[in-house]
Amino acid sequence: MRRLILSLTLLTFCTGVAAEQIGTPSVGTRPVAATSSTKPAPKKPVKKKKKPAPKQPPAREMFGSVDTPAPLEARAIGSYSKGCLAGGVSLPINGPDWQVMRLSRNRNWGSPQLIDFLERLSSDARAQDGWPGLLVGDLSQPRGGPMLTGHTSHQVGLDADIWLTPMPDRTLTPEEREEMSAVTMLKDPLTVDTTIFTDTHVKLIRRAASYPQVARIFVHPAIKRSLCKRAASVGKNRAWLGKVRPWWNHHYHFHVRLACPPGMVGCNNQKPVTGDSGCGKELDNWDSILKKAAIWTAQQQIKPDTKKPGKKKNVRLTDLPADCKAVLVSGGHEPLALDAELPEVALLAAASKEAGQAIPLLSQAQLQTLLGGGRIGMSMPDRNPIR
Ligand SMILES: [Zn+2]
Repeated sequence: MRRLILSLTLLTFCTGVAAEQIGTPSVGTRPVAATSSTKPAPKKPVKKKKKPAPKQPPAREMFGSVDTPAPLEARAIGSYSKGCLAGGVSLPINGPDWQVMRLSRNRNWGSPQLIDFLERLSSDARAQDGWPGLLVGDLSQPRGGPMLTGHTSHQVGLDADIWLTPMPDRTLTPEEREEMSAVTMLKDPLTVDTTIFTDTHVKLIRRAASYPQVARIFVHPAIKRSLCKRAASVGKNRAWLGKVRPWWNHHYHFHVRLACPPGMVGCNNQKPVTGDSGCGKELDNWDSILKKAAIWTAQQQIKPDTKKPGKKKNVRLTDLPADCKAVLVSGGHEPLALDAELPEVALLAAASKEAGQAIPLLSQAQLQTLLGGGRIGMSMPDRNPIR
């Protein structure tokens, strides 16, 4: 069972957001070998040091096995993709203007600031933008930290995934919250379907970006393109566009990231956005990346067995900020031992159904057009575009 779970961790959906911290994405870049006119000195044989065997399971298993928050003062500790959460608060599964989805994951936990924000956003969007209510996806685990499946970020209680599917006018059953799929906003891998992605969606994302505590919002690059085109149809102000960052996979949900609450010690902010709308060159660069990814994916469909899964690094508790150990053991929680069976809470979360529909594939005609009648010799984009 452990093996099965470990292979499940290869599935990633909000993963790339960590790399977003670094800068503009690139395709197929590789380091250039240093050139030198002199011959390098012969290498001395280096004795390989044997790595000591880990004493604990990976941090994602340890944090994924806790079903209660850390009874400590509320604090987001570390960075979005390497940290944990003290004093986590849960978002009630039903609110006046929201419902929490995929309850089996137990990921409706966040900092008090995140919970306040979601309550405010859902109420403002309903009253002022005509959005009928939020379907809320993953926030964080009760004590944050790395997760068994999915996200690389969402570790400190400041990230939230919100479905782009409007909330229905009734209370969903627990089964519906497990089985329902968020609807993709794309009609093909490169383009938004404007019959599904409406001006109300544009207003909702604009609303979310308008709060000063929001640092960034992640959407699929095709959605960002559509927002750039349509910003004028919902108002004059374009400043909010700068916070909306293009990233893989966010085609059926958007991801809101709050900045560290002011004065919170040990909470690491990302570099703030520049203020540029991001509607120019950066988006053009993304277009070419998306095209390559779409071709790659379409060709994988033809030869499915050439697909190789990526490997997820085993982050250990010792790789996280030191305070995360206290978070994990607080309240008398006994951390998961090496080779202990995963508890039910972890198994349930890991077995949960993907939240949204897959990205539509290119049609054969589109593929041929993109290939220009020939074949493009291309390397795989820097991230597996299927996930
Ligand atoms: Zn997310």
